[in-house]
Amino acid sequence: MIRNRSNENKLEGYILTPQRQIVLEEIRQCGRLLDAKELYRLVSQRDATVSLATVYRSLGLFKQLGLIDEHRLGKSQCCYELKQSLEHQHMICDRCGKVTEFETPLITQMVQDLKQEKGFTIDKIELCVHGTCRECQDKSNE
Ligand SMILES: [Zn+2]
Repeated sequence: MIRNRSNENKLEGYILTPQRQIVLEEIRQCGRLLDAKELYRLVSQRDATVSLATVYRSLGLFKQLGLIDEHRLGKSQCCYELKQSLEHQHMICDRCGKVTEFETPLITQMVQDLKQEKGFTIDKIELCVHGTCRECQDKSNE
């Protein structure tokens, strides 16, 4: 059973533009702390139309959405990484860019099993589910 939490969550309705998706994708692929300028350098290699301002705006939005964690290093430098949560994962609609949180007992079960059977404690799980949301499926069926 998968419980869709979108109705009780502020994530509902937020749109990930293609540029923002690239920014998020780079944060995910990098897998370590990045500051905005470093991130901009990586992103601009993939899409030269993305500006530093877009990177800053995207980071602000991702923070608001709870997709990333911000770490302050010193006075002016902030670093970012993808937020890891064992409680919920994210589904991203590749057509409209909507981000929806979901939780599934399968993951909870896996965390428990790995601990019991292998003695392994899980701190983070990276799972990004891409696909097509119900609204977009309905639209293409019309
Ligand atoms: Zn959609």
